[in-house]
Amino acid sequence: MHQSETSKDWKWQIANQISTRDQLDAYIDLTDSERAAFDEKIPLSFAITPHYAGLLKHAALRSTVIPTGYENHVGTGELADPLGEEDHRATPYLIHTYPDKVLFLATSFCSTYCRYCTRSRMVGKPSENAFTFEESFRYIEQHTEIRDVLFSGGDPLTMTDSVLDELLTRIRSIPHIRMVRIGSKVPAVLPMRITDELCAILRRHKVWLSLHFIHAAELSPETEAACRKLSDHGIGMVSQTVLLKGINDNSQTLTDLFYGLLEMNVKPYYLLQCDPVRGSAHFRTSVEKGIELIRSLHGNISGLAVPQYVIDAPGGGGKVPITGIEQIRREGDDVLFINYEGKEYRYPDPKNEL
Ligand code: SF4
Repeated sequence: MHQSETSKDWKWQIANQISTRDQLDAYIDLTDSERAAFDEKIPLSFAITPHYAGLLKHAALRSTVIPTGYENHVGTGELADPLGEEDHRATPYLIHTYPDKVLFLATSFCSTYCRYCTRSRMVGKPSENAFTFEESFRYIEQHTEIRDVLFSGGDPLTMTDSVLDELLTRIRSIPHIRMVRIGSKVPAVLPMRITDELCAILRRHKVWLSLHFIHAAELSPETEAACRKLSDHGIGMVSQTVLLKGINDNSQTLTDLFYGLLEMNVKPYYLLQCDPVRGSAHFRTSVEKGIELIRSLHGNISGLAVPQYVIDAPGGGGKVPITGIEQIRREGDDVLFINYEGKEYRYPDPKNEL
């Protein structure tokens, strides 16, 4: 990694995104199998910021952003849209699954693409729709039961200050909206995006951030400075961590991450069972393993550092907190559990797949 490049500004980082094998090879030594993966058809979008490429000396992070041949293996029960979001699409940019909450897909762009992304079907791919959001705002205005808007995508914090300010001003003009959140991995992959100007916009519109971190190796000095700046501006922050086999599926790794986040004023919120998206079998642990891990944290580390372990029920049943083995039952390759509405959902969890 060329050290000076970590300090270049966020627009430079995006303009210099690493999006080919040769560009990546200039930053890190690729293994033969990583090189070979680029020769196959890569089903998911690929790009990494120069900043994040500098963190790939940590072995745990490599396979989360560098393509591998496993992506072409579609495991049992895996789907392009595992959460059934398309069935709940209210407008081209709104997913309305829970009664009082909508997911607003503000962009399909990310500065760095994760290989386990739930929305890999659409992130980094050209959109069929022009990005005009008025229909979506009107839908929210007409549905007075909606209180909570989560902007996601893609990563909304890759949008410019003026576009974000406009979106947030419009959403805050709707009287029944009480909660506005943005889901983002920017503090980990593009921390220089967190400027005083951006913080002032987020503060003015009372935005909470739901930040995506998977490993303490992501908590670079730049990331720490970004989170401190957000905290100093009074921005509420929680984290979401996807449980990933061989990457963060042990107590010590999770403890290091969650304490590290707390030290940056980010409250660990969700430890997510990895969604059964196409090509994710090599990333997914069993649900039993997830339960074992979360139980190993309870009582052994500060309660503030312990997130909820949740399964996002495939097909649109919402997030279900899982605290013990008695909440699940196994039926062949599936794990069954009950969601907040009392409905039964199944998560494909085949033993010995990869
Ligand atoms: S940052 Fe979020 S939306 Fe973007 S690729 Fe990663 S998981 Fe998907």
